[in-house]
Amino acid sequence: MFKTYNGYFTRFFDESKYFFRNKIDFYFFCVFILMEVFFMIYYFTNFLIGTCLGSHANLVFDRLSHENFNILFGRSYCDYCLHPLSIIDEIPILSYVCLRGKCRFCKKAISKKMIITELIGGLSFFSFNFSDLTTILVVIWLFYLYVIALFDYSFQEFPTYLLSIPTLSASFFLWYSKPTLSALDWINLIVILLVFISGILRAKLGSGDLLIYLLLCCFYKPEAANTIILIACLLALMHFLLQKSIKISLAFIPYIFAGTVLYHLFFNLN
Ligand SMILES: [Zn+2]
Repeated sequence: MFKTYNGYFTRFFDESKYFFRNKIDFYFFCVFILMEVFFMIYYFTNFLIGTCLGSHANLVFDRLSHENFNILFGRSYCDYCLHPLSIIDEIPILSYVCLRGKCRFCKKAISKKMIITELIGGLSFFSFNFSDLTTILVVIWLFYLYVIALFDYSFQEFPTYLLSIPTLSASFFLWYSKPTLSALDWINLIVILLVFISGILRAKLGSGDLLIYLLLCCFYKPEAANTIILIACLLALMHFLLQKSIKISLAFIPYIFAGTVLYHLFFNLN
């Protein structure tokens, strides 16, 4: 088998000898290509896991907003004909594309929100290393932040009990990673906390926003939490300037979610 490979490589090398100075160059090139393929498979697998997380976030949002607390088990149904969906109808993105966005049974159009939440899930989680324990704790937090963002986007509020699992996850994260706060971190934390508390007292902010900021501080330290809030503010401002109609109330948590995802992509590669 190795002889066949060796023969193949020698022939390939002979044919491409004008491109490579020597055999070592050629082998480096092959290793480079193999590593690129490996990283593409790695990111694609993570993207698929992300689409499943996005799909589940949508399911949790749907069930909790209908007071159904069975978020782990139980079959899904078509919203129109109430026919139970099988596993092949529930593969993220692929099922939607294969069924051309229609229910297999009643042929009514499936909401586009479904495929959008799955795509956002895939794009949000593709850079995470799912084999690392601390990363899993961050993923749990980000998953719940996504569900909260869906609630905030639809109703401009969210059930506070959704923060219980992220708080548990943050406690494990702090216990496991034991971060130490510098004097600058404390100044950062106290100043922004005062801004949030004054916002809550003047009824401009909900107390949920403060809790989310504190969780951001647990996972990323105050300096990074402030960067995330800054990115969220810039995104919200951009949206505000680009939209045609002026809406008075603005759901801010979707921007915090987007800011956190962008922070992971550009500042905190893991
Ligand atoms: Zn149907």
